[in-house]
Amino acid sequence: MEKQYDIIVAGAGIAGCLAAAGAAKNGAKVLLLDRNDPAQVGKKTNWGWVCGDAVAKSHIEFVHKEIGLRLTEPVLDVEVEGVQVFSPDLTRKFQFEGAGYSLDRPKLAKVIVDFAKKSGAEYLAHHEVEGPIIENDAVVGVYGRDEKGAQYRVNAKIVIDALGIASTIRRKLPKNNYIENTVSTDDIESTGRYIAEFEQEGDDLRYYDPKNAIIHLNQKLAPGGYGWVFPKSKHRVNIGIGVEKKSIELRNTKMGKKDTLHMLIDQYAQWNPVVKGLKVDETDSNGKGYWSVTVRRQFDSLVYPGYMGAGDSMAMPNPISAGGIGPAMNAGAIAGKIAAEAVAAKDTSIEYLWKYNTRYNEVYGSKTAGLEVLRVYLQSLNNELIDYGMSKFLTEKEAVDISYGIIPEITLASTFNKALSGLSNINAFKNLLSAVKKMKEMNALYSKYPDSPAGFDAWKKLVNEGMHDVKQRFPPNPV
Ligand SMILES: Cc1cc2nc3c(=O)[nH]c(=O)nc-3n(C[C@H](O)[C@H](O)[C@H](O)COP(=O)(O)OP(=O)(O)OC[C@H]3O[C@@H](n4cnc5c(N)ncnc54)[C@H](O)[C@@H]3O)c2cc1C
Repeated sequence: MEKQYDIIVAGAGIAGCLAAAGAAKNGAKVLLLDRNDPAQVGKKTNWGWVCGDAVAKSHIEFVHKEIGLRLTEPVLDVEVEGVQVFSPDLTRKFQFEGAGYSLDRPKLAKVIVDFAKKSGAEYLAHHEVEGPIIENDAVVGVYGRDEKGAQYRVNAKIVIDALGIASTIRRKLPKNNYIENTVSTDDIESTGRYIAEFEQEGDDLRYYDPKNAIIHLNQKLAPGGYGWVFPKSKHRVNIGIGVEKKSIELRNTKMGKKDTLHMLIDQYAQWNPVVKGLKVDETDSNGKGYWSVTVRRQFDSLVYPGYMGAGDSMAMPNPISAGGIGPAMNAGAIAGKIAAEAVAAKDTSIEYLWKYNTRYNEVYGSKTAGLEVLRVYLQSLNNELIDYGMSKFLTEKEAVDISYGIIPEITLASTFNKALSGLSNINAFKNLLSAVKKMKEMNALYSKYPDSPAGFDAWKKLVNEGMHDVKQRFPPNPV
């Protein structure tokens, strides 16, 4: 390792490898640091590459166009037609997202780190990153420990933080108004999943569909989140759940239970009458795992002097689906390119780096605050209200539009013909109208995202106030 680079990318996961490739391809001298052994690159924790592995085709196409990375089989393990979301009573389903893939994460990890290396990045495994080096309130490098446990320090004009949800760089940034050090537990889902072979009993497509990624909304089985069954090759599934801490506690109190995440995952797997006889697939030690994922909008700013963040380190997963692969791909590719441009322009000020904020919002980020509102609203509904709402409140088209950030024109008057009945249903519908109004306000705020740091504080205050109101109005109420 040399002492000075143009750009250090911390973390060789999805965001990190693509950022390193994007930066190196555009002429920068790049160091890519990761703690894992190269044979286990991209592994998030001792539990493996814990993920549902599903990603929409549009993201795969984006990175091809943006930085020339072409992903093919066997990384793209199984192609799916879309994501089907089922109501708790399984009588309603909405088809979201369009075509996509179930990925082989360990294989993806190897392909993208090779791509970063071929693009010119220097990759160093076995390097734990412990924190940022700060000088004059700017990030000027990172420090950590190497394979032998010896301390190292290395400097760069820009550090790209792609260390995932528990980033040691982000947590140790000086207190500032651009990047938050932590994420509220209310905005985190605890998750777990198995990758397993199974014996198929029957062909009820509500439980397993070889051509679709299935999501089960069910506040008793997966309070504050959802359960999923995603098809994989060789007659395997990726099956798991995500739950929210407060919702689990409320659900347990109301149901007189003491279920933990681990217990709920097994209960969800047992509940499925089609996917039976699970045999955990221990290939790559990636068969069973638990980890966390954020379900809020990405951080209001993704840059700080000398610093850019991409992927889970910036809370980028989609607030509704928790899909973070696509955002990490988009952000990594964009961040790397802009970092290299900044180095070439000899301007690594926050003013220059700001274009990463605006570009990321353009490509993906501008809809996520609205989706965060919807997520908070959904967590306030019990199973009966979700069942009722999916049959009465929204058409499939309206629901799908919302997931893309397109807000439908629904009013009490326009839905008069839906003949809503029951006080709690009508109240839930009124709440939906209020949530939709708030989503519109959030989208409007994001359409006016400041084009320099100058207007940021005032803008951020409005977003935070709006989100605070939403959380006050819709507390979690799973059962
Ligand atoms: C159970 C579960 C299911 C999910 N399902 C889906 C899904 O189906 N579809 C989807 O799109 N998203 C899903 N996600 C989210 C998705 O997995 C993440 O958004 C994605 O992995 C983010 O990539 P990343 O590169 O930002 O971070 P990570 O994948 O977390 O990569 C971070 C990298 O940094 C390294 N690192 C961390 N700390 C240090 C350190 N201190 N020093 C050195 N290296 C370090 C790690 O080893 C790793 O290589 C799921 C998440 C979970 C937990």
